[in-house]
Amino acid sequence: MPDDDVAALRSSVARRFAQTVEELSRLVAIPGIAWPAFPPEQLERSAEAVQELVRAAGFADAEILRATRPDGRPGGPAVVAHRPPAPGQPTVLLYAHHDVQPTGDAELWDTEPFTATERDGRLYGRGAADDKAGILVHLGACIALADVYGKAPGVGVTLFIEGEEEAGSPSFRRFLEAHRDRLAADVIIVADSSNWAVGTPAVTTSLRGLVDGTFEVSVLAHAVHSGIFSGPVLDAPTVLARLIATLHDEEGNVAVAGLVAGDDPDIEYPEEQYRRDAAVLDGVELAGSGSVSARLWTRPALSIIGLDAPGVAVASNSIQPRARAKFSLRLAPGQDPDAALESVRKHLEAHIPFGAHLRFEPGERGSAYLADTESPAATRLMWALEAAWGTSPVRMGMGGSIPFIADLTEVFPDADVLITGVEDPDSRAHSANESLHLGEFGRCILAEALLLAALRRPPGAADAL
Ligand SMILES: [Zn+2]
Repeated sequence: MPDDDVAALRSSVARRFAQTVEELSRLVAIPGIAWPAFPPEQLERSAEAVQELVRAAGFADAEILRATRPDGRPGGPAVVAHRPPAPGQPTVLLYAHHDVQPTGDAELWDTEPFTATERDGRLYGRGAADDKAGILVHLGACIALADVYGKAPGVGVTLFIEGEEEAGSPSFRRFLEAHRDRLAADVIIVADSSNWAVGTPAVTTSLRGLVDGTFEVSVLAHAVHSGIFSGPVLDAPTVLARLIATLHDEEGNVAVAGLVAGDDPDIEYPEEQYRRDAAVLDGVELAGSGSVSARLWTRPALSIIGLDAPGVAVASNSIQPRARAKFSLRLAPGQDPDAALESVRKHLEAHIPFGAHLRFEPGERGSAYLADTESPAATRLMWALEAAWGTSPVRMGMGGSIPFIADLTEVFPDADVLITGVEDPDSRAHSANESLHLGEFGRCILAEALLLAALRRPPGAADAL
């Protein structure tokens, strides 16, 4: 691409940047949460505000659409808009989501969660990064492209702004199938991930999958007096704790037989940086073997995320008859989710101590993802990131899961899926004090504008993508 084009896109993004931040702030003010316990009107308001911004960005046909969830309830409101390609040009689907996570404990926030607040070059607020910034990256890139290339910027663009991602995208698959023709694209850009560090862009090339479930142990038909009966039988919380302890080996590696591990990543995540990013307390030793990046991205990781046993405040001197745990298992790329759940079930059945009764209930399942890093679209993305940041991008895995990526690749098997994002390791998506680094935000918009420009096929090269 000519240097003049790069410079023109750069100055177009810079010129409009203050307005882009203002538009993002307007979205942050709407607490659109797709969880059943939160008011659905706010989610509708959020979709309407997005629709308005999408229209203002030149997509007159922006519509709010939804599909039915498998349980029969209506899915979250998504905004879809389209600008057709010039003849012979590819179409790019731009994905982000407008729904956000709940705030959690409001006491932990230093600013009002739904009032975008700028401090030291970062914009604080729920959704400021995840993923309302993703929406503005897409819109900012489209506006810059139209600004520089006029009304016929070449590539076709379909915007797809989902409204239920943080609730697990329950109607996503049906939505894709219902609107398959409308959403079909040559390249799909998912702006919902993270960069490597402030100043270093990244492409997310692998995602772990995720399964979860619960297991309950029971030892007595009902609670009994611990003075009269304790000694000959262990209480259920103790038995449960012993069972949980078998899930990892002495080093802290997952000890469930049959789980797949992938190749080691070519980039190292320095241990010191991990300790800082994950807020590991002084003196706490890291678990598992192998590089930190392998442990985070290409190996399974199992966490206990909930326990049911009497709370300390209501504890009485009795032997507890049953106790239950919820586990969350991150899967390496290449791991089949159903097989992983089966492995956990077999492990628990084989290790349940003292003949206690066990009830295992599998829960959610989402597949892992491994990108094609050599595709023409991926190569252009690497170029665009390097041009925007002035430094080579990192190919990183992500420990997190984006289950809908598997749906996208299954419904649109011929499309190239590119995973980008606005977050950096200090963005604290899903936690208190979520924030967006504004310098990185500007570079993200520029990189996507450069990518859209680079995806245009030169005349006579119709097979370039
Ligand atoms: Zn997100």
